[in-house]
Amino acid sequence: MQLFNTLTRQMEEFKPINPPRVTFYHCGPTVYWIQHIGNLRGMTMADLIRRSLVYFDYEVDFVRNYTDVGHLTSDADSGEDKMEKAAKREQLSPERIADKYIKIFETDTTRLNILPPTHTPRASQHIDGMIAMTKTLLENHQAYVTPLAIYFDVSRFPDYNRLNRQKLDLNRPGAGKGTVEDPQKKHATDFALWFFKVGEHADALQTWPSPWGVGFPGWHIECSVMAKELLGETIDIHMGGVEHVAIHHTNEIAQSESANHKPFVHYWLHNEHLTLKTGKMSKSQGTGLALSSLIDQGYDPLDLRYFFLTAHYRTRQEFSLEALNNAKISYQKLRDAVIALKKQTQRTSLSREKLTQLESYQRQFTQALANDFQIPQALAVTWEMVKSNVPSADKLELLYEFDRVLGLKLDAASEAQVPETITALARQRQQARQNGDFAQADALRRQIEKNGYLVEDQPDGCQIKPKR
Ligand SMILES: [Zn+2]
Repeated sequence: MQLFNTLTRQMEEFKPINPPRVTFYHCGPTVYWIQHIGNLRGMTMADLIRRSLVYFDYEVDFVRNYTDVGHLTSDADSGEDKMEKAAKREQLSPERIADKYIKIFETDTTRLNILPPTHTPRASQHIDGMIAMTKTLLENHQAYVTPLAIYFDVSRFPDYNRLNRQKLDLNRPGAGKGTVEDPQKKHATDFALWFFKVGEHADALQTWPSPWGVGFPGWHIECSVMAKELLGETIDIHMGGVEHVAIHHTNEIAQSESANHKPFVHYWLHNEHLTLKTGKMSKSQGTGLALSSLIDQGYDPLDLRYFFLTAHYRTRQEFSLEALNNAKISYQKLRDAVIALKKQTQRTSLSREKLTQLESYQRQFTQALANDFQIPQALAVTWEMVKSNVPSADKLELLYEFDRVLGLKLDAASEAQVPETITALARQRQQARQNGDFAQADALRRQIEKNGYLVEDQPDGCQIKPKR
């Protein structure tokens, strides 16, 4: 299996440390707001990769964290903790804010049929580990203390820019995302491991004692520590959005490798963004791009999942309602195919030719996954197989097998409930046809169609479906 490693900018053969186990850390959301569908795309991409690994018989230990402290609002050297800002906005404690938005997030991920992670740590539950790692870095002289914060000294980690491939510029401001303006900071690029409850954080709501003073952790060290405590010092896969390459993941590597003296991650995977015609999707566009708002407009969450399947994780995908409508139609067609196949499940013996055909689809599907998780290609193979002439029972079986990766709940596909008034009209029409009264049958058909349903005649009766 080949995957694209951001660290080397190359396709590489996937070799886990302890097969069949695969350790997989995915940077989760900061839980201060409803996650828009762009963020949910990132979650779906990680889910598809995880499901592909499981399809290849790996046992995936999957961690997706919740950042509930320490993620500041500004990209520059100052800012307010996002959780505390939300707490003020909504007049709730930071803990209640976290509970509220974790619940909404988990409802959304469940609706998108994203598998629950093996572990979902909250950063605030791993403070001891963050203090321990900070202590190690101070002892190694890779960090230093000022009256305002404890910083990682970037000049003490020569390979700092390995992942982001930028030129090391110790004076580049903004690199230390979330650090306070501090005259005693040695280089602008240094980033905070621990903030003290002083200065602009004097009123911080979430603080803990530490050997150096009361305060709270920086955002980057949270992921380094949760990954270490739940998965180990060296992990197989670490994933996140492309926006994390330049700073967040670069800083995670610096901290983890300096503290553990071991490689941190073997394969770095980064997903591209969901965009709008107008540009990048942002929180400021409001909750109009929340999953719940699409549901209110009549979409099934899995229409959105189907839409996500049509673009590779490393390419940008442009969102529009038109594109979502197309996905909805295709998804319904796929479910219709399943419903039709379910009715013809008589297993026939497979000719050698058909068996070869079946195996060929299976191989093509597997090859698509093994090529850096080419889900759009896997979906195309699925359609080809559905349209082929392999016997229905085998087709259905293979479709369910593919759906272990696609996650479209195809086994649950069933005909929509047709109202009794409509089935009564259909029965009358059936009777009219049997009586040879085709004018009456046609009139009844029109009446059914006026009510939003279609009648399809079949050898053993008729099928009624909602019009789309
Ligand atoms: Zn992270």
